[in-house]
Amino acid sequence: MLSIRGLTKRYGERTALDKLSLEIAPGSFTVLLGPNGAGKSTLFQVLTGLFAADEGEVTVAGFSHRSEPAAALRSLGVVFQQMSLDLDLSIRRNLSLQADLHGLPRKVAAERIVEGCRRLNVDVDLDRKVRELSGGNRRKVELVRAGLHRPQVLLMDEATVGLDPKSRRDLLAALHEDVATRGCSVLWATHWVEEAEQADRVVVLHKGKLLADGSREEVTRALGEPSLEQGFIARTT
Ligand code: ADP
Repeated sequence: MLSIRGLTKRYGERTALDKLSLEIAPGSFTVLLGPNGAGKSTLFQVLTGLFAADEGEVTVAGFSHRSEPAAALRSLGVVFQQMSLDLDLSIRRNLSLQADLHGLPRKVAAERIVEGCRRLNVDVDLDRKVRELSGGNRRKVELVRAGLHRPQVLLMDEATVGLDPKSRRDLLAALHEDVATRGCSVLWATHWVEEAEQADRVVVLHKGKLLADGSREEVTRALGEPSLEQGFIARTT
């Protein structure tokens, strides 16, 4: 579903991604675990076309970034670390603007907006301004927005930053449900080990390279400490 081959990205002398290769299967929830500076945001910036890689290839849902960029990008939904809703517009307006960008018919968009907000328990009037929402609800609206065009791959870049534990759990649960019901693939970047609890797969990124890859148990074993958290700290600091 998402194929990353030999991806390298340099900022001057610094190599942020170092010949990174990763295959993400359909209908899977993969946690990309990396300390600050590991290269997670750089990877997402390259995947979403914000930056060009120096080397390597990316394919999304069978579409090559290089030869079919529009189709590749249409197959992605993204929630970035920085909140990117317009605070002075309503929830509904923020979402319908995105639907318009994707060329969704108005009726389909209106239905998906209501259905998405209901599913994520955004239990407030959709005509309220985003400024009036809690941090947790703002994140949920961003997740609804990322899924409006029904992308096959969802990229989440440290999406729980600033959320309280309940909102964090709700967001993760909603995504796991998306994987189960719609069969989309999630790549969830974080430096919080506990967010890897229900992951199908854990990928540890350190200094732009893969340090370990597999189930939670396999990665814990590969890192050589009694727990994933201990191994992660010992091997990435
Ligand atoms: P993460 O998201 O895992 O914290 P980043 O992708 O932000 O990691 O950073 C990876 C490395 O690239 C770090 O060493 C960081 O300092 C460097 N880096 C990131 N963005 C830039 C930039 N715009 N210019 C120079 N160096 C950068």
